[in-house]
Amino acid sequence: MADTYKKSILDIILKSSPMPKYRFKSVLDITAEDFKKMGAEAVALDIDNTICNDGKDNCIDGLEDWLKEIQGAGIKVMIISNAIPPRPVKIAQKLSLPCLCYAKKPLSYKLRKGAKMMGVETNRLAMVGDQLFADVKAANGCGAIAVRVDPLKGETRYPRYYAMRRKKEAAVLEEFEKRHGYGVYDE
Ligand SMILES: [Mg+2]
Repeated sequence: MADTYKKSILDIILKSSPMPKYRFKSVLDITAEDFKKMGAEAVALDIDNTICNDGKDNCIDGLEDWLKEIQGAGIKVMIISNAIPPRPVKIAQKLSLPCLCYAKKPLSYKLRKGAKMMGVETNRLAMVGDQLFADVKAANGCGAIAVRVDPLKGETRYPRYYAMRRKKEAAVLEEFEKRHGYGVYDE
């Protein structure tokens, strides 16, 4: 197979892939050093089941200290959420973070916009979220760094939807586990 053809086919597959690049148990487990090793200069955080329990306004304990550490290391942080305003805006304001909401992930256009807002190339933006078929696909769709965190407990708003999604995700995560564990790895 010609190399250019092979590359373009691989590009198409990768762009629609729900396979994360890295996996962590929680946002709080990712250090500034980890982001630097990934090549990330900016971080986009998902809200629901990533930094806030499903549909709730309060963020997980320790998030503000974590933000201080990450931002203190010169890494920019913002929120990119599919949630509809005003809730995501209020959460972002409380954390003093820029926010793009109603992002329609797995579409990637708000990630591109977010990277521009942060003043970084899209491939320097780490999208951190819990959903492979939303956050991770959106990241892969624009060449951002796809970081998957395990969902927070208590997905109560749409139980059927989540059960279906998590079942689909299990197959992808099983494949991921054959290659990598949690954390950043050397290429
Ligand atoms: Mg989420």
